[in-house]
Amino acid sequence: MENMPAITRFAPSPTGYVHVGNVRTAFFNQLLARCSGGRFILRSEDTDAERSKQEYLDALLADLHWLGLRWDEGPDCGGPSGPYCQSERSGLYEVYYTRLIDSGDAYPCYCSDQELKLSRKRQLASGRPPRYAGTCRHLGDQERADKAAQGRVPVLRFKVTAGDSVTFQDLVRGEQVFARDDIGDFVIRRADGSAAFFFSNAVDDALMQVSHVLRGEDHVANTPRQILLLQALDLSVPRYGHFSLMVGDDGAPLSKRHGASSLRELRLAGYLPGAILNHFLRLGHKADIDDWLDLDQMPEHFNIDALGRAPARYDMDQLRHWQKEAVMRLSIAELEDWLGDSGRALIPPEQTGAFLELVRSNVLFPADLQAWVDVLYGDLPKPGESEQEWLQQAGSEFFRAALAALENPAATLKDLTDAVKTATGAKGKQLFMPLRAALTGRTDGPGLQEMLVLMSADTKRKRLQEALALGQKHSREPLI
Ligand code: GLU
Ligand code: ZN
Repeated sequence: MENMPAITRFAPSPTGYVHVGNVRTAFFNQLLARCSGGRFILRSEDTDAERSKQEYLDALLADLHWLGLRWDEGPDCGGPSGPYCQSERSGLYEVYYTRLIDSGDAYPCYCSDQELKLSRKRQLASGRPPRYAGTCRHLGDQERADKAAQGRVPVLRFKVTAGDSVTFQDLVRGEQVFARDDIGDFVIRRADGSAAFFFSNAVDDALMQVSHVLRGEDHVANTPRQILLLQALDLSVPRYGHFSLMVGDDGAPLSKRHGASSLRELRLAGYLPGAILNHFLRLGHKADIDDWLDLDQMPEHFNIDALGRAPARYDMDQLRHWQKEAVMRLSIAELEDWLGDSGRALIPPEQTGAFLELVRSNVLFPADLQAWVDVLYGDLPKPGESEQEWLQQAGSEFFRAALAALENPAATLKDLTDAVKTATGAKGKQLFMPLRAALTGRTDGPGLQEMLVLMSADTKRKRLQEALALGQKHSREPLI
């Protein structure tokens, strides 16, 4: 692609929390603008007054902001092509409706829903794909006046005249060809006066001087309509690129059962912005580097030619991989925020930094961190099955020896293992796993010696005593 500054936009309809698929669209458009030194616009497509809500727009702006996305023009920051909410642009649209009516490219259609339904049924029954039959194309002034007198309120339709097919060069999918016959005259203004998607979306792209429209492939079939409209209005036609949609790991369209479907859910689940962005950069886009990238490094690794046609698989394992990377990059202060008041209350303040450094590689989410606070400073949860097995296998002698070594409160892991080894002959896993299970209640985690340094002598003693009691309870050795 030539290197002209791209003016791109993200044009969501604020009818709910922003879906991760749309977040990826926003992100790719921002990257394309940034990597070419262009501009990125955010436009709210809120012409559906019933479903669009200010609170969803506010939430969308807040969530994208949290993710780190920034736009140069938009409803919250203004700009030279405002307003940026379509609900405030109806005055502008009027000019273009009038132009289309005057040039004969648009006409009022009085057909009722019932009549349209019937016509669709008839076409389907005779094996033709359904499209508007052109009923109102040639109404004379008198007929229009009669319909209006009956109280019928018309929609405005764009006239798709016969002619050459509509062709465009898709930035992702290559040449696209659509026969005009397949398009049919389409609605550009609804009966209530509001702008239909095809119209406001295309007209605003032109008025906002958008040069590149990158969007999901569910919009490919809309593009020929939008091109015809812009040509009839003598407005500039942007370049279009339609990338593959996101699917879950089973190949089905992304939905709730694949984990999270809105950015808000990911945010509430504790995912970090950098993790999401690193995953998305590789979703349907072949980045030239596999390593972690900060957001400001991403534009130079974005390439429109590397957008793919194969379905983009949203993969929770990949997301978790990047989450791990993101946690490793958090500052101690940021990790400390994850502790919350209850966590902070348990950790001796001078140990906070050492504790967080020690456990961060075992943590993906705030709840994981809390679990490690409990392991080192709080109450151990009841040991799981595999932990219990290690404890029972080890037997009483094992823990009696460990407890004896702990009479020196500064005893190291080596002091404990030496004592146990001498008393029982245990070695390798048989030596380390029961100690880990007894002292931390788990068989995974950071270095045991490093954890022992942070744990109080009391805690360690109490846990070894509990392990000893458990071992005795389950002991199969004869009691006499
Ligand atoms: N409001 C449209 C949508 O959310 C915009 C589509 C486009 O990017 O052109 O699907
Ligand atoms: Zn009609």
